[in-house]
Amino acid sequence: MIEKTIGQILDETAEKYPDNDALVYLNGPRYKYKEFREIVNKVAKGLIKLGVKKGDHVAVWAYNVPEWVILQFATAKIGAVLLTVNIYYKKAELEYLLKQSDTKYLFLIDRFKNVNYIETLHNVIPELKEGKRSEKFPYFEKAIFIGKERYAGMLNFDDIIKMGEEIDDETLYSIQNSLNCHDVVNMQYTSGTTGFPKGVMLTHYNIVNNAYWVGNYLGLTHKDRVCIPVPFFHCFGCVISTLNSVIHGATMVPIEIFDAEKVLKSVEAERCTVLYGVPTMFVRELNHPDFEKYDLTSLRTGIMAGAPCPVEVMKKVMNDMHMKEITICYGLTEASPVITQTKRDDPFEKRVETVGKPLPYVEVKIVDPESGEELPQNTPGELIAKGYNIMKGYYKMPEATEKTVRNGWLHTKDLAMMDEEGYVRILGRVDDMIIRGGENVYPREIEEFLYKHPKIKEIAVVGVPHPEYGEEVAAFVQLKEGEKATEEELRQFCLENIARYKVPKYFFFVDEYPMTASGKIQKFKLREMAKEKLGR
Ligand code: AMP
Repeated sequence: MIEKTIGQILDETAEKYPDNDALVYLNGPRYKYKEFREIVNKVAKGLIKLGVKKGDHVAVWAYNVPEWVILQFATAKIGAVLLTVNIYYKKAELEYLLKQSDTKYLFLIDRFKNVNYIETLHNVIPELKEGKRSEKFPYFEKAIFIGKERYAGMLNFDDIIKMGEEIDDETLYSIQNSLNCHDVVNMQYTSGTTGFPKGVMLTHYNIVNNAYWVGNYLGLTHKDRVCIPVPFFHCFGCVISTLNSVIHGATMVPIEIFDAEKVLKSVEAERCTVLYGVPTMFVRELNHPDFEKYDLTSLRTGIMAGAPCPVEVMKKVMNDMHMKEITICYGLTEASPVITQTKRDDPFEKRVETVGKPLPYVEVKIVDPESGEELPQNTPGELIAKGYNIMKGYYKMPEATEKTVRNGWLHTKDLAMMDEEGYVRILGRVDDMIIRGGENVYPREIEEFLYKHPKIKEIAVVGVPHPEYGEEVAAFVQLKEGEKATEEELRQFCLENIARYKVPKYFFFVDEYPMTASGKIQKFKLREMAKEKLGR
């Protein structure tokens, strides 16, 4: 286990591989490790001058811009807590987050899609424009614009760098050296597949070690170049992608906003060896009309995670994208995030059908969600996990923390089973399991089966209330471009191959799914849509 802070780790990597590329963007800025550390130190000094203290909450509201990664390491160097803000947030969510988290400083870009971030912030804290303090947000100190423009009541990024010139190395390093790896360094509000957003507190120790092990499983070294299309504001971005790369001296090649073509272009131009993504990203890349034109032969490994990884998609990624050594990770923000991961040398079936075994120093049990009793092998139940990677707690929510982490065990609400060799299969969320006339139906199983249908691009199965059976199976189908299919045809395909009680009673054809920003289909919204369509 590594007992170092993130600041120390960056320094070590910069010493070891000064001329290795650290952060590069296709047609954008490029930093070698020595340059990356230099800019990080400048910004860290600027933060000190601004008045940022150890433990202060510094929020970043931006897509994958270079300043995001710089801020991630600069805040860690002075012991501030980086608060990652979901880029899809609008006014109400920003307001909730700034208030609940006691944010002191907010770094932000100007806009994302149709949301003007500057206007939104000015609406939430109108006093900002006059440079006054807000009574509603007593903790709030300063907003800083990531860019050159000047906005009312805000500093900009260059100001921070300039302010840093007044601080010397000694001051920075006396702060950095006073930090403890068990301090909280990162806080994220969990994605919205369920319930109310809660601020997950993670320490250096939590995320450094998690990133380290995940990288080891990939065989990541300073020779690797990692394409990062996943958002930084989620653990997949800021732990598995950026921190992991820095620990192993690899090169980060981020995509600012996910776009299948940009991913393919970046992999080709930067000769990336590693590619990450949630399953839908891989699906879009594989289905891109120009897919064949790109040279992806540099790819070696990568990670698919964040949502169920369909076997058929895994196989295609291994063959058509040359990612023979791809691995699957399973986990959640509260676990830093990774709990289990497949190994590159696991048997083929285990690598495509399971999420692997628990990482070293992480324990997993499958228990009855009601009684909490441990269940026998190959029996579906709730996955609970314990280890160095479990969060410190939810910020200012002791009751929610106690409910989720009991005696050190994190209760994931994920339905899973473990085989005799210790490999874990995720069956869905505990709340997503369908009980049809007393028979348990696992959406995942039906989804996996329907993915085999040649016309189907994406699929999501949910339970909907039914007067006779309690619940019935409904499938939301997205067909491949240009394909047509009837409900009857899909039903027949199922009837010929799977037990009748599992065959979807309803098929709904959709063009897209309600998704969370981190790439998960929001099944509770699909259930609502189905209920509405069926008038239940
Ligand atoms: P988040 O906290 O946003 O990372 O969401 C975590 C949730 O994503 C988990 O509780 C799982 O339901 C789901 N998840 C993550 N990775 C996988 C995976 N490999 N297979 C299935 N579900 C996953």
